[in-house]
Amino acid sequence: MTASKTAFRRTWGQGERLVSVDVPSTVEVADHWCGVLGDPLFKDLVFAARATAKLSYSPYSKFRVGASVSAGHKLYTGCNIENASYGLTMCAERVAIFAAVADGNQKINVLAISCIDADSADPPNQKMPCGACRQVIEEFLFDESLIIIDNVGKFRKQDLLPSPFALKVNR
Ligand SMILES: [Zn+2]
Repeated sequence: MTASKTAFRRTWGQGERLVSVDVPSTVEVADHWCGVLGDPLFKDLVFAARATAKLSYSPYSKFRVGASVSAGHKLYTGCNIENASYGLTMCAERVAIFAAVADGNQKINVLAISCIDADSADPPNQKMPCGACRQVIEEFLFDESLIIIDNVGKFRKQDLLPSPFALKVNR
């Protein structure tokens, strides 16, 4: 498929409101990798992650990341948000997961992550969640939940963090 510069608009539910973002209709959309995702939900989640990455605030790293999660039959999105103090920077994965939690959905079925500034030839490690996000993923995803990393593959949380930190919770 040829790389067209035309764009189309997709709308996702973001909690109680709807978010519309222009998704460039380029080779990204016709991506062969996306084609093997199968479930249309997975494809939408990857597109949502890619689109949200374009909202990233990353003037320092210039490395835009987007994430989306499916939780409680809703879709939540996040992008990385940097800060001049560096340490206050927040990852896209956590922004998306925390948005779901703040909307009352604490169990996430699918998480998609896209590093749109990574080169397709870059090794997978440059597109994977950081350690802090892996611990947060452990807390809010089911064992069966899928983690889709754009242009890398599908994972379960156990793949990403085999020995997570855990506290005994008395409920
Ligand atoms: Zn992270």
